[in-house]
Amino acid sequence: MSDLRDLYQEVILDHSKNPRNFRKSETANRTAVGYNPLCGDKMTLFITVENGIVTDASFQGSGCAISTASASMMTESLKGKSEEEADELFRQFQNMVTAPMDQEPDTEALGKLRVFAGVREFPARVKCASLAWHTLEAAIHGESEEPVSTE
Ligand code: ZN
Repeated sequence: MSDLRDLYQEVILDHSKNPRNFRKSETANRTAVGYNPLCGDKMTLFITVENGIVTDASFQGSGCAISTASASMMTESLKGKSEEEADELFRQFQNMVTAPMDQEPDTEALGKLRVFAGVREFPARVKCASLAWHTLEAAIHGESEEPVSTE
């Protein structure tokens, strides 16, 4: 697993060891459960939306460093965003982690979430990085009562 060391940039390590917003929310009006069976990552996402704006975002669960760091940084990025902006973040994040290595996708809105661009080199890790985002989409759009699975 030594090749993964390059991927675990400092910021990802920090967020995986000390995840932000790692708590259950009492005010959440959107929740969803996400599961990545390939890695065993599992999370519950709690989103509070008021007047179309995300006022709180938190998560609980257990997963690898990448999925935990991704959920931690995602919940930090979401606060204060409109649902449309959250959708756009999802779109740009998904484009970034799935784009071919020789392409530079539009990541303007992502800010520090760009550290996850490195997962492109590790296809199995793309699902770890994007699990929180797929769970977010399910929470916001309420697409299903079933847990979201990356498979
Ligand atoms: Zn994982």
